[in-house]
Amino acid sequence: MTESIDTFAALQLPPFLLSALTDVGYETPSPIQAACIPHFLAGHDLIGEAQTGTGKTAAFALPLLARLDLAVKMPQALVLTPTRELAIQVAEAFQKYAHHMPGFHVLPLYGGQSMVIQLRALSRGAHVIVGTPGRIMDHLERKSLVLDKLQTLVLDEADEMLRMGFIDDVEWILEHTPAEHQTALFSATMPEPIRRIAQRYQKNPQQVKIRSATTTVAAIHQRYWQVRGADKLDALTRMLEVEQDFDAALIFVRTKTATVDLADKLGARGYEAAALNGDMTQGLREQVVERLKSGSLDIVVATDVAARGLDVPRISHVVNYDIPYDTEAYVHRIGRTGRAGRAGNAILFVAPRELRMLKAIEHATRQKIEPMTLPTKSDVADRRVAQFKQQVLDVIKAEKLDFYFDVVRQLEDESEIKPREIAAALAFLAQRERPLQPEGAGWQAEAPAPAPHEERPRREERPVREFGEERQRAAPREERPAFHEDKASRANRDEILSRRRAFSEGNLAKFRIDVGRNQGVTPKDIVGAIANEGNIEGKYIGQIHLFDDYSTVELPSDIPAETLQTLKRTRIRQSPLNIRAVTPGEAEEKSDFKPRPKWGADRPSDERRPGPAKWSGGKTERDGSRPPKAPFKPGDKPKRPYAGEKKFAPKPAAGKSKKY
Ligand code: AMP
Repeated sequence: MTESIDTFAALQLPPFLLSALTDVGYETPSPIQAACIPHFLAGHDLIGEAQTGTGKTAAFALPLLARLDLAVKMPQALVLTPTRELAIQVAEAFQKYAHHMPGFHVLPLYGGQSMVIQLRALSRGAHVIVGTPGRIMDHLERKSLVLDKLQTLVLDEADEMLRMGFIDDVEWILEHTPAEHQTALFSATMPEPIRRIAQRYQKNPQQVKIRSATTTVAAIHQRYWQVRGADKLDALTRMLEVEQDFDAALIFVRTKTATVDLADKLGARGYEAAALNGDMTQGLREQVVERLKSGSLDIVVATDVAARGLDVPRISHVVNYDIPYDTEAYVHRIGRTGRAGRAGNAILFVAPRELRMLKAIEHATRQKIEPMTLPTKSDVADRRVAQFKQQVLDVIKAEKLDFYFDVVRQLEDESEIKPREIAAALAFLAQRERPLQPEGAGWQAEAPAPAPHEERPRREERPVREFGEERQRAAPREERPAFHEDKASRANRDEILSRRRAFSEGNLAKFRIDVGRNQGVTPKDIVGAIANEGNIEGKYIGQIHLFDDYSTVELPSDIPAETLQTLKRTRIRQSPLNIRAVTPGEAEEKSDFKPRPKWGADRPSDERRPGPAKWSGGKTERDGSRPPKAPFKPGDKPKRPYAGEKKFAPKPAAGKSKKY
């Protein structure tokens, strides 16, 4: 850990950010924050080797906010993230830290959300844009996103963007941003393509890598629980209940507020628990430590700073309720147990996206950390019954029971009940407060634990929220479902990219056709008609927008006149297409950019046509793919193959008479 910078104030952050950090309860900068913030503030380019859980979001969000000019309502920072989930999370983090910055606007832009909503939000102005590469490219191409005032570009989880096949998109964006800006790159690993990007697009980048010293922690039994299903608090109490050699626990959380919250919640569940954080006076902190030592407290919930150097031999368990920022912090934390020759236990809660940190910890401690499953209802019942029996035996051993013998004898005589029945009834009475068989919701057995070194979960398994939505209201899908697994899509990446370039180079033109929503057409109908009647392979057909009485479609700008003639006559749902090029001045050319017109007027639908089976590129929503310059020679039948692509494949004449 970087010990030298212990406070956010020492990082020269402005007061309005310091108050926000107090609000969220951050006690001290994480190592990556302490190392990165000064570079950001100084305007340096930066490479941060850091993974999720290290506090990297605040490491860039705080200094970016510190440098913003709120009066300039244009994007001054752009953060690229691999997924929509992360884009939302990062945007929420910005909002949280900018709590005392009235007028601040952050806008997440990701595929899957209506373009109309995004265009409207962009037209209102945003200071920070957080987006996924595909959607950011779309907006840059449309010029709905203008980066003239850009100060900083952040590539977040760059290796993940590489893994998901976005790196060409990222380069495209880097090429289309103004030359003069700070570029920061965060990546958990630094594979060669990422290094190349850094070399190509960064100037003397400062390198920040959080040191991970290797240490041995042999005496401590280390386990982890992958957080899923049950809520963390529930999991914690279940675990504490069944741990065999439990004496006292030190539980680590990240924020001061969380220490108090969790201690209160544990208290409400019958545990003797107290908080230990940097806001407490020295006297109060000492009191807590004394109570823990003497046994009047069993659980202390602490932040890293407050628990530094804590030496209480009876701590049998350290629980990393929130994962530490780095391996060194982990080693410090678990070193609070297994003291004075006693056995120690360390339990780590790992969210799916933090599995990389788990691996880093194993590497640093040179030890495997065993996965653990959540104790089931019957585990807990067994434990409670065992404890109950022990209590009964202890009472028999230690207490004078003459009076109670008399009570039982009277019961026996008066009602002719057997002693065993009486004992069972007494056991029932004794467990009412704390049932021997746990009841209520949430007690279903946990699914088997994942393999200890299960890969990062697939993106599409992670919950997704709309920006501003409560965390709990997770939706099941990602921006680009399984894109990284779809080999065909991956293979088409370059094709997609070249089409985008083709579009931005003006090789596509927008055409208008006289059929729209009122005629009941769908983008699929339009692609089908144009592909069949115009002999144009679907992959050379670009974006389609449906309006009420007409639609627009992007086609190669050098489409032969005779093809256009054919398409003019082509019908969809009995209406002739009457296709014609949209002239630059034509109103609807701009209609995508206009605020939504009043009800009843023609409205752009922002629909992307679904790719027909033969349309090889652009199947995923995010790519917004546009065809390359098509291989037409004016007046010719198309023959020439598009550079580097599959041959242009004019369709056979058959099917020409097909009507739509
Ligand atoms: P990140 O690595 O950016 O995904 O951050 C992981 C978690 O750490 C988030 O929940 C942050 O709110 C939290 N966090 C980041 N910085 C700090 C800090 N200095 N103190 C406490 N919690 C933090």
